[in-house]
Amino acid sequence: MKTELRNKTKWQQPLWQDKLILSQVKKELINLPELINFEEIKDLYQKLEDVYAGKAVIFQAGDCAERISEANPLHVRKKLSFLKQMSFELSALTGLPTLTVGRIAGQYAKPRSQHSEIHNNIEIPVWRGDSINQLEATPEARCNDPKRMLLSYHAAAETLREIKSYQLNYSEVVQSIWTSHEALLLDYETSQIRINSQGSKYLASTHWPWIGIRTLAPDSPQTAILERIANPVACKIDASVTPSFIAALCRQLNPQRIPGRLTFIARFGHMHIHQLGSLIDAVEATATPVLWMCDPMHGNTYKTLTGNKRRDLSHMMAEVSGFYKQVRSRNACAAGLHLEATPHPVVECFCANYHPTEHQLNQIVCDPRLNVVQTQILLTHWKELQDDF
Ligand code: PEP
Ligand code: MN
Repeated sequence: MKTELRNKTKWQQPLWQDKLILSQVKKELINLPELINFEEIKDLYQKLEDVYAGKAVIFQAGDCAERISEANPLHVRKKLSFLKQMSFELSALTGLPTLTVGRIAGQYAKPRSQHSEIHNNIEIPVWRGDSINQLEATPEARCNDPKRMLLSYHAAAETLREIKSYQLNYSEVVQSIWTSHEALLLDYETSQIRINSQGSKYLASTHWPWIGIRTLAPDSPQTAILERIANPVACKIDASVTPSFIAALCRQLNPQRIPGRLTFIARFGHMHIHQLGSLIDAVEATATPVLWMCDPMHGNTYKTLTGNKRRDLSHMMAEVSGFYKQVRSRNACAAGLHLEATPHPVVECFCANYHPTEHQLNQIVCDPRLNVVQTQILLTHWKELQDDF
């Protein structure tokens, strides 16, 4: 425990205490069936190409941190109905088909800003997501356990079974639901890289992996994974990204300039979103086709006086406006929204009709999510921006 608290981990990786169990788990993970097959990944390219051509829009949403305990039909179906309902509404608003993407079936590892936190006057390691340790605030529960990677694999498999059966049941009305998550946990993700009959490597843990802001660097191992795999990939970007860095990312992650291969998910915050334009210009100068998405959640997170996370819908709307105008005025592809949102009637984000109490904020797992009404407000806002153009 002591070493775990003191050692600085690299690239957000957990320190596993038991190396023997770690190597056994990795062997098992490598030999488990692939969760996603290469054909599906190819299909997704086709859809993303449509988005690039302005013929469809993306709705990507889900929890900040998925929970293994929610990998059951009841919870998963609720999430799927929500994703489909919101996609349906976005299509009705925009007049375009919607590509539905969940932060689902694999969003089990979280990057953290701190290594430890104080709970009841004792210092304990932070929670790093269900694939690494347990949320319960005790030193024992917060120990990193490699076996949890197996639990998260099976939870993802169960969730995917539900997605397939949902799609079969509603095949007349439901387009595909694609999966995505942050490719963060190296021991897990590298075990899920598979090779197709043509010798191409692909990541079989998800259709569409992204790398988060804390691991976005030309030399990060997460960037190296994205470089090696044939999936479409995405990178979160913020105001710390320079024009020369984003141009280098284009060359590194989409050297063949394939439409749909590379997406940038802007999460600048409403105060900084005006800086996006110079990055779009830098990408255009490389002639790399990219999709631009807007994550108005992560750059608009503040702390309340008691230290809880606070997100305001007004800030999100301001960021979406700034995003949309800068992307469209440059004739670049405004591909859609990336949200943390839930079908549950939660009060986690602030807006005119919802004022979470400190107690409610304190109960939030990881980051505040939008509820249905708040999600709909953002979708309508997107439509109004589209109309203004
Ligand atoms: C997230 O998407 O939950 C996340 C941690 O995002 P970011 O890397 O943009 O902070
Ligand atoms: Mn989050």
